[in-house]
Amino acid sequence: MKTGMRNYHTHTSRCKHASGTDEEYVLTAIEQGYAALGFTDHTPWPYANGYVSRIRMDVEQLGDYVASIRALKEKYRGRIELFIGLECEPFPQYYGWLREMKEKYQLDYLILGNHVSQEDEAGHFYMRSQTRDDLKRYTESTLQGMESGLFTYLAHPEVSWSDYPQVDDACMDMAEAICREARRLNMPLEYNLLGNDYRETQRTHGLGYPHDAFWEVAARHGNAGIVGIDAHRPEMLTWTGKVIAAQEHLRALGVQVIDQLEL
Ligand SMILES: [Zn+2]
Ligand SMILES: [Zn+2]
Repeated sequence: MKTGMRNYHTHTSRCKHASGTDEEYVLTAIEQGYAALGFTDHTPWPYANGYVSRIRMDVEQLGDYVASIRALKEKYRGRIELFIGLECEPFPQYYGWLREMKEKYQLDYLILGNHVSQEDEAGHFYMRSQTRDDLKRYTESTLQGMESGLFTYLAHPEVSWSDYPQVDDACMDMAEAICREARRLNMPLEYNLLGNDYRETQRTHGLGYPHDAFWEVAARHGNAGIVGIDAHRPEMLTWTGKVIAAQEHLRALGVQVIDQLEL
Protein backbone atom coordinates (compact mmCIF):
# COMPACT_ATOMS: atom_id res chain seq x y z
CA MET A 1 0.00 0.00 0.00
CA LYS A 2 1.39 3.40 -0.97
CA THR A 3 0.98 5.79 1.93
CA GLY A 4 3.21 8.43 0.40
CA MET A 5 4.84 8.83 3.82
CA ARG A 6 8.18 10.62 4.01
CA ASN A 7 10.64 10.59 6.89
CA TYR A 8 13.85 12.59 6.78
CA HIS A 9 15.28 11.65 10.17
CA THR A 10 16.64 8.09 10.26
CA HIS A 11 19.70 6.67 12.00
CA THR A 12 21.80 3.55 11.43
CA SER A 13 23.54 1.19 13.82
CA ARG A 14 26.84 3.00 13.18
CA CYS A 15 25.95 5.59 15.84
CA LYS A 16 26.22 2.86 18.52
CA HIS A 17 22.74 3.51 19.94
CA ALA A 18 20.54 2.46 16.99
CA SER A 19 19.82 -1.06 15.75
CA GLY A 20 19.01 -2.94 12.57
CA THR A 21 20.69 -3.07 9.19
CA ASP A 22 20.47 -0.23 6.69
CA GLU A 23 18.45 -2.49 4.40
CA GLU A 24 15.95 -3.30 7.16
CA TYR A 25 15.14 0.41 7.46
CA VAL A 26 14.61 0.63 3.71
CA LEU A 27 12.51 -2.57 3.52
CA THR A 28 10.32 -1.44 6.43
CA ALA A 29 9.75 1.90 4.71
CA ILE A 30 8.85 0.15 1.45
CA GLU A 31 6.44 -2.20 3.25
CA GLN A 32 4.82 0.84 4.86
CA GLY A 33 4.39 2.49 1.46
CA TYR A 34 6.82 5.36 1.99
CA ALA A 35 7.55 7.61 -0.96
CA ALA A 36 10.87 8.74 0.51
CA LEU A 37 13.28 7.96 3.31
CA GLY A 38 16.16 10.20 4.35
CA PHE A 39 19.07 8.85 6.39
CA THR A 40 20.62 11.35 8.82
CA ASP A 41 22.84 9.37 11.11
CA HIS A 42 24.75 11.23 13.83
CA THR A 43 27.70 12.81 12.09
CA PRO A 44 31.21 11.89 13.14
CA TRP A 45 33.52 14.77 14.12
CA PRO A 46 37.25 14.79 13.45
CA TYR A 47 38.29 15.32 17.06
CA ALA A 48 41.75 16.79 17.38
CA ASN A 49 42.34 14.86 20.62
CA GLY A 50 41.52 11.48 19.07
CA TYR A 51 38.48 11.04 21.30
CA VAL A 52 36.17 8.19 20.20
CA SER A 53 32.50 9.04 20.68
CA ARG A 54 30.00 6.55 22.05
CA ILE A 55 27.04 8.26 20.37
CA ARG A 56 28.07 8.69 16.76
CA MET A 57 29.83 6.89 13.94
CA ASP A 58 33.60 7.18 13.62
CA VAL A 59 35.09 9.37 10.88
CA GLU A 60 36.39 6.18 9.21
CA GLN A 61 32.81 4.89 8.86
CA LEU A 62 31.50 7.81 6.85
CA GLY A 63 32.56 6.30 3.52
CA ASP A 64 30.87 2.99 4.31
CA TYR A 65 27.70 4.76 5.45
CA VAL A 66 27.41 6.70 2.22
CA ALA A 67 28.33 3.70 0.02
CA SER A 68 25.79 1.49 1.77
CA ILE A 69 22.86 3.91 1.40
CA ARG A 70 23.89 4.70 -2.17
CA ALA A 71 23.86 0.98 -3.05
CA LEU A 72 20.38 0.65 -1.51
CA LYS A 73 19.27 3.67 -3.48
CA GLU A 74 20.21 1.86 -6.70
CA LYS A 75 18.80 -1.48 -5.55
CA TYR A 76 15.38 -0.07 -4.69
CA ARG A 77 15.19 2.62 -7.36
CA GLY A 78 11.59 3.05 -8.50
CA ARG A 79 10.24 1.62 -5.24
CA ILE A 80 11.38 4.33 -2.84
CA GLU A 81 13.39 7.51 -3.03
CA LEU A 82 16.37 7.54 -0.65
CA PHE A 83 18.34 10.55 0.52
CA ILE A 84 21.70 10.60 2.28
CA GLY A 85 22.38 13.13 4.99
CA LEU A 86 23.77 13.64 8.48
CA GLU A 87 22.46 15.04 11.77
CA CYS A 88 24.96 17.56 13.10
CA GLU A 89 25.60 19.75 16.12
CA PRO A 90 26.38 23.43 15.52
CA PHE A 91 30.15 23.12 16.07
CA PRO A 92 31.61 26.01 14.05
CA GLN A 93 35.16 24.69 14.46
CA TYR A 94 34.16 21.81 12.16
CA TYR A 95 32.00 23.62 9.60
CA GLY A 96 34.86 23.67 7.11
CA TRP A 97 35.33 19.93 7.48
CA LEU A 98 31.57 19.36 7.23
CA ARG A 99 31.35 21.36 4.00
CA GLU A 100 34.22 19.28 2.60
CA MET A 101 32.47 16.01 3.51
CA LYS A 102 29.17 17.19 2.02
CA GLU A 103 30.98 17.95 -1.22
CA LYS A 104 33.18 14.85 -1.21
CA TYR A 105 30.31 12.44 -0.56
CA GLN A 106 27.67 14.46 -2.43
CA LEU A 107 25.36 14.42 0.57
CA ASP A 108 21.79 15.43 -0.17
CA TYR A 109 21.27 17.41 3.05
CA LEU A 110 22.28 18.06 6.64
CA ILE A 111 19.96 18.55 9.58
CA LEU A 112 20.75 20.47 12.74
CA GLY A 113 20.35 18.52 15.99
CA ASN A 114 21.79 20.44 18.93
CA HIS A 115 22.42 17.68 21.48
CA VAL A 116 25.53 18.77 23.32
CA SER A 117 27.32 22.05 24.00
CA GLN A 118 30.82 20.87 23.19
CA GLU A 119 32.56 17.85 21.83
CA ASP A 120 30.71 15.01 23.52
CA GLU A 121 31.36 14.38 27.19
CA ALA A 122 33.32 17.58 27.50
CA GLY A 123 30.02 19.39 27.06
CA HIS A 124 26.60 19.76 28.60
CA PHE A 125 23.87 17.48 27.23
CA TYR A 126 20.99 19.79 26.42
CA MET A 127 18.43 17.04 27.11
CA ARG A 128 19.49 17.38 30.73
CA SER A 129 18.99 21.15 30.85
CA GLN A 130 17.76 22.42 34.22
CA THR A 131 18.60 26.10 34.35
CA ARG A 132 17.69 29.28 32.51
CA ASP A 133 21.35 29.56 31.61
CA ASP A 134 21.26 26.13 29.91
CA LEU A 135 18.35 27.31 27.76
CA LYS A 136 20.17 30.52 26.94
CA ARG A 137 23.27 28.64 25.77
CA TYR A 138 21.10 26.22 23.80
CA THR A 139 19.32 29.12 22.11
CA GLU A 140 22.52 30.95 21.19
CA SER A 141 24.26 27.94 19.69
CA THR A 142 21.11 26.80 17.88
CA LEU A 143 20.66 30.23 16.30
CA GLN A 144 24.32 30.20 15.25
CA GLY A 145 23.78 26.80 13.58
CA MET A 146 20.60 27.92 11.84
CA GLU A 147 22.40 30.98 10.49
CA SER A 148 25.34 28.94 9.15
CA GLY A 149 23.39 28.07 6.00
CA LEU A 150 24.49 24.44 6.28
CA PHE A 151 21.26 22.90 7.50
CA THR A 152 17.94 22.07 5.85
CA TYR A 153 15.89 21.82 9.01
CA LEU A 154 16.11 22.04 12.77
CA ALA A 155 15.48 18.70 14.51
CA HIS A 156 13.68 18.64 17.88
CA PRO A 157 13.94 22.44 18.36
CA GLU A 158 12.83 22.25 22.01
CA VAL A 159 14.95 19.20 23.01
CA SER A 160 16.37 21.31 25.87
CA TRP A 161 12.92 21.25 27.51
CA SER A 162 13.20 17.51 28.09
CA ASP A 163 14.11 17.74 31.80
CA TYR A 164 13.39 21.45 32.29
CA PRO A 165 10.90 21.82 35.15
CA GLN A 166 8.33 24.33 33.92
CA VAL A 167 7.26 26.61 31.11
CA ASP A 168 8.64 29.98 32.15
CA ASP A 169 9.84 33.14 30.47
CA ALA A 170 13.21 31.49 29.68
CA CYS A 171 11.33 28.84 27.67
CA MET A 172 9.26 31.49 25.96
CA ASP A 173 12.34 33.58 25.10
CA MET A 174 13.91 30.50 23.57
CA ALA A 175 10.80 29.60 21.57
CA GLU A 176 10.39 33.18 20.34
CA ALA A 177 14.01 33.47 19.24
CA ILE A 178 14.14 30.12 17.45
CA CYS A 179 10.76 30.44 15.74
CA ARG A 180 11.45 34.03 14.64
CA GLU A 181 14.78 33.03 13.11
CA ALA A 182 13.36 29.89 11.47
CA ARG A 183 10.66 32.01 9.88
CA ARG A 184 13.21 34.53 8.64
CA LEU A 185 15.33 31.75 7.14
CA ASN A 186 12.33 29.73 5.92
CA MET A 187 13.72 26.78 7.82
CA PRO A 188 11.26 24.02 8.79
CA LEU A 189 11.11 22.93 12.42
CA GLU A 190 10.76 19.26 13.28
CA TYR A 191 8.08 17.79 15.52
CA ASN A 192 10.06 14.87 16.88
CA LEU A 193 8.29 11.56 17.51
CA LEU A 194 11.18 9.97 19.39
CA GLY A 195 10.66 12.69 22.00
CA ASN A 196 6.99 11.73 22.31
CA ASP A 197 8.10 8.14 22.85
CA TYR A 198 10.58 9.25 25.53
CA ARG A 199 7.78 11.08 27.32
CA GLU A 200 5.44 8.07 27.12
CA THR A 201 8.13 5.80 28.50
CA GLN A 202 9.11 8.29 31.23
CA ARG A 203 12.57 8.97 29.88
CA THR A 204 12.03 12.72 30.08
CA HIS A 205 11.95 14.23 33.54
CA GLY A 206 10.52 17.66 32.93
CA LEU A 207 8.42 19.29 30.23
CA GLY A 208 9.52 16.79 27.62
CA TYR A 209 9.49 17.41 23.88
CA PRO A 210 7.78 18.02 21.57
CA HIS A 211 5.78 20.47 23.66
CA ASP A 212 2.61 22.36 22.73
CA ALA A 213 3.84 25.58 24.36
CA PHE A 214 6.67 25.65 21.79
CA TRP A 215 4.42 24.79 18.84
CA GLU A 216 1.90 27.48 19.78
CA VAL A 217 4.71 29.98 19.30
CA ALA A 218 5.59 28.31 15.99
CA ALA A 219 1.98 28.63 14.88
CA ARG A 220 1.99 32.34 15.73
CA HIS A 221 5.20 32.91 13.74
CA GLY A 222 3.91 30.96 10.74
CA ASN A 223 6.68 28.35 10.89
CA ALA A 224 6.62 25.25 8.73
CA GLY A 225 6.43 22.11 10.87
CA ILE A 226 7.58 18.70 9.66
CA VAL A 227 7.10 15.49 11.60
CA GLY A 228 10.29 13.45 12.02
CA ILE A 229 10.38 9.95 13.47
CA ASP A 230 14.08 10.10 14.44
CA ALA A 231 14.14 6.34 13.84
CA HIS A 232 16.75 4.42 15.82
CA ARG A 233 15.14 1.01 15.05
CA PRO A 234 13.65 -0.13 11.73
CA GLU A 235 10.26 -0.86 13.34
CA MET A 236 9.94 2.80 14.32
CA LEU A 237 9.21 3.41 10.63
CA THR A 238 5.89 1.61 11.18
CA TRP A 239 4.78 4.65 13.24
CA THR A 240 2.77 5.95 10.29
CA GLY A 241 -0.37 6.33 12.42
CA LYS A 242 1.63 8.42 14.90
CA VAL A 243 2.94 10.59 12.07
CA ILE A 244 -0.58 11.29 10.84
CA ALA A 245 -1.84 11.96 14.36
CA ALA A 246 1.06 14.36 14.96
CA GLN A 247 0.34 16.20 11.71
CA GLU A 248 -3.31 16.56 12.73
CA HIS A 249 -2.27 17.76 16.16
CA LEU A 250 0.02 20.41 14.66
CA ARG A 251 -2.71 21.60 12.29
CA ALA A 252 -5.10 21.87 15.23
CA LEU A 253 -2.52 24.13 16.93
CA GLY A 254 -2.42 26.27 13.77
CA VAL A 255 0.98 25.14 12.48
CA GLN A 256 1.59 24.94 8.74
CA VAL A 257 2.46 21.29 8.21
CA ILE A 258 4.77 20.19 5.41
CA ASP A 259 5.76 16.60 4.70
CA GLN A 260 8.23 17.01 1.88
CA LEU A 261 11.62 18.72 1.58
CA GLU A 262 13.03 20.06 -1.67
CA LEU A 263 16.41 18.30 -1.74
ZN1 LIG B 1 20.46 9.22 18.37
ZN1 LIG C 1 18.30 11.98 15.37
